[in-house]
Amino acid sequence: MDGYAPRVLSPAVENLVVQLAKLPGIGRRTAQRLTFHLLAARPDDALELSRAIEEVKARVRFCRECGNLTEEELCEVCADVRRDRSVICVVEQPVDVVSVERTHEYRGLYHVLGGALSPIDGVDPADLRIGGLLARIENGGVDEVVLATNPTMTGEATAAYIADRLRNKVRVTRLASGLPVGGDLEYADEVTLGRALAGRRDM
Ligand SMILES: [Zn+2]
Repeated sequence: MDGYAPRVLSPAVENLVVQLAKLPGIGRRTAQRLTFHLLAARPDDALELSRAIEEVKARVRFCRECGNLTEEELCEVCADVRRDRSVICVVEQPVDVVSVERTHEYRGLYHVLGGALSPIDGVDPADLRIGGLLARIENGGVDEVVLATNPTMTGEATAAYIADRLRNKVRVTRLASGLPVGGDLEYADEVTLGRALAGRRDM
């Protein structure tokens, strides 16, 4: 038991609390506060949220080229002719693209792996978009691959693996140190991340 008396909340209310508490960073107490907020909100406002969730699940898919999120065949970065197509920045998740873009230090393309290698969690190279990355390099026109996986154990292992696969095929660089070790790119401030990008080194 987590200290809450049974049947204080009706089943529907309890269910919403449980669903919200599944979100990252949302504990039971916050989930309860959000639930009561939604109960007090005007019906239109509350339904707007549920419609937004439905819409995002129905419309958003992965970019055919880089694995970033998009509502079209190609994401906005891949479709933008002003981007430098000779550099590909490899990140773990679509949220990392947002972090790198925020630095305004990078004008190249991306490749979103969809995670990091982690034998313990059963994540093998085949589970990530590594084949797609190799294919993009084989197609030519790429001079540099920047490995911007997280400075965590799995992120470093992933960078090492990809650097190995790309050896003698293309220049491979890694973000400079200075990022908080063990942290995710997502939480790095743009100045620190921008410096790490500008100071990237050959692997
Ligand atoms: Zn794309």
